[in-house]
Amino acid sequence: MPIKTYHLRYVALLVMVLCVGCQAGAKPAAPTLAPLPTPTAVPPPAWQDRDTYRAAMLEAAADDVTRIEAPTFYQIEAYVDITAHPPRVYAIQNTHYSNSTETTLDSIFFRLFPNKPGYGTALTLERVTAEGEEVELHFQSEGTALGVALPNPLPPGQSVDLHMEYDVTVPVENARGYGTFNYQGDILLLSNFFAMVAVHEDDGWNLSLAPDYGDPVFAETSFFTVELTVPQDMVVVTSGTTVDRRDNIGETTTWTCISGPMRDFMVVASDRFVQSSTAVGHIRLNSYYLPGHQQAGEQVLAYARDSLRAYQQSFGLYPFAELDVVEAPIQSGVEYPGLVVLAEQHYEHSGELTEFLVAHEVAHQWWYSMVGNDQVNVPWLDESLSNFSTIYYYEHTYGQARAELAFENFVARSYRQAKEEGRDGVVLQPVAAFAPQDYGPIVYGKGAVFFYELREKLGDATLLDILQDYFEDRKYKLAVPGDLLRVAEIVSGQELDGFYTEWILSAE
Ligand SMILES: [Zn+2]
Repeated sequence: MPIKTYHLRYVALLVMVLCVGCQAGAKPAAPTLAPLPTPTAVPPPAWQDRDTYRAAMLEAAADDVTRIEAPTFYQIEAYVDITAHPPRVYAIQNTHYSNSTETTLDSIFFRLFPNKPGYGTALTLERVTAEGEEVELHFQSEGTALGVALPNPLPPGQSVDLHMEYDVTVPVENARGYGTFNYQGDILLLSNFFAMVAVHEDDGWNLSLAPDYGDPVFAETSFFTVELTVPQDMVVVTSGTTVDRRDNIGETTTWTCISGPMRDFMVVASDRFVQSSTAVGHIRLNSYYLPGHQQAGEQVLAYARDSLRAYQQSFGLYPFAELDVVEAPIQSGVEYPGLVVLAEQHYEHSGELTEFLVAHEVAHQWWYSMVGNDQVNVPWLDESLSNFSTIYYYEHTYGQARAELAFENFVARSYRQAKEEGRDGVVLQPVAAFAPQDYGPIVYGKGAVFFYELREKLGDATLLDILQDYFEDRKYKLAVPGDLLRVAEIVSGQELDGFYTEWILSAE
């Protein structure tokens, strides 16, 4: 790790100076003593320097870049060939990985989500090296997990640099799943297009794979520098902030974008996007939509603005300089750090569900983006809480009566109906354990009703204290249900095991 190397060199130099001083005190220094070399610390490249990422933060939150322990740094150069059949992305990726586990690692696992069957595409590796050496590769989890065997074991606290070159095809038809990796209707969506370091847990690398109807990503907070080269007329929207835009010969433009401390990096691009913007304090909010959708695009922007205001007051500050909401040829809505995509149908016919979806997806900036969780095995932790959180959007924006109505219509009813039909279920289960028709009512319904009932039991002020403490405690980290329960018991001074077991671990 360059920073550590610098410190060691500096300390070594200091020791040398002190020793020379000691010797000089003992006997006169030899007149031929060579002059000491000037300290020449090699700074890390900009993409491995946390300070680079301050530009994606609000000034008041810029020091958050120093809060992340041993983050992974990514530098990705991606060239988009939209005219190829199918379109392709050719990428060169450098990854600086630090071993923050307690064990020596022989290999590092990456997730290659474009290889997930539902994505309808493939990521083909052209070259992979670690510390400049060619390495052995192992594939698992239907090709979505790549194990890179390291040339030398990596002890805890040490870092390694990995280099990859790969090619990803972009489907132009409806794939299974969310459809968040494709090029349709002039909109390019590159969800999880890169090689993403997997999460190493106490029992090893977590390589779980979600079925088509669940979010696939489980990742640690990292820093991304992404240079995207696209046709000159394309507008690029990403997680984080664009820091440079340069036209090249050959009618392409290279966009340089950086993230804040984020666990994923989303890219959307189109040559037809129209943009409307507003601000919440110093946070810039952008809505991107296709021509003809201006009214809905501006309405979506207003929903996002009011959601951001409500959640900042309720849970804690949004630390990033920017939040984008983008129209896309998908189903429903999907959350990414600093970016939300929303189905085009909500721009063609926007209504009350549009408003609810925006409120839900913006809540994910707190629950999933900043407070991370295993979306594949513990999906309720972010989904139930994001769905419950919408109640604060409605209360802040319209008052309690409308909030109760929206909660009943969009959250509670689906669970009550499922229960009446004898389809109650345990909330804490992996996505794959649910039948597709039960996943919504139990995870988005029952899990959210748990938080509603917890608020009834403890009072609103106590529940908000719990959510604020939980947010501050797990911000930029990963959370498990025990973290939430522990904070809830400390803040409320009540034993909540029984209540939690009844709602989350049991079913009638
Ligand atoms: Zn969600």
